[in-house]
Amino acid sequence: EGSNAESGKKTLTVYTESGFKPFSYLDKGEVTGFDIDLIDAVLSEAGYEYNLENVGWESMLASVQSGEADLAIAGITMNEDRKQTYDFSQPYFESTHKIVFREGEQITSAKDIKGKKIGVQTGTTGAEAAEQIVGNNDKSISKFESNSLAFMSLQSGDVDVVVTDNVVANEYVKNNPDANLDMITDSETFESEFYGILLPKDTALKEDLDQALQTIMENGTFEEIYQEWFDT
Ligand code: GLN
Repeated sequence: EGSNAESGKKTLTVYTESGFKPFSYLDKGEVTGFDIDLIDAVLSEAGYEYNLENVGWESMLASVQSGEADLAIAGITMNEDRKQTYDFSQPYFESTHKIVFREGEQITSAKDIKGKKIGVQTGTTGAEAAEQIVGNNDKSISKFESNSLAFMSLQSGDVDVVVTDNVVANEYVKNNPDANLDMITDSETFESEFYGILLPKDTALKEDLDQALQTIMENGTFEEIYQEWFDT
């Protein structure tokens, strides 16, 4: 682990999982996305240098728990379950779930996924949302290591629907106009949730991140990054 000569702060190890466009994804082999720009702004504001590592979803979570990673960002929802094991920064983005399906499937509310072959990303809040409808580990549910793999399986016809985060669903449907996909949300069933930066428990880093996040939310930097990714 290096340290930044000027500030005396150590160089952080930041993990992400790039199957989550537009928050974290690969563009010509480079990790990019809203979350990548956001963490860059937060850490620069907080005076940290960092190395970004792109890993799988489950190893990302495990590495933050063990402290091998100092933090992770990838549209990670703050929920009670994870708060037992991790700390989170202040929230930075509101989200809910959507159901993406091939045009022609009769799906007008969340409960219509019953009887369908359902694709989700393993260990996500989307997986939980689907399980709340059809039952835990119901055999109609296929769990994929990444959200991108769940979407591929939808396009190939291996699953009928994918339950995932709304902004990621919007992005995928927009970017795949020839796939004949449709989507719905269901505010009666799917609750609103918030993304936060994931941290090991009880670090001093959390306060630095929260302060920097607050600063960039007040000084217009957050808004600039937001506009760049979502309002153009
Ligand atoms: N927001 C979802 C969760 O935290 C999915 C995140 C992701 O796939 N990167 O469970």
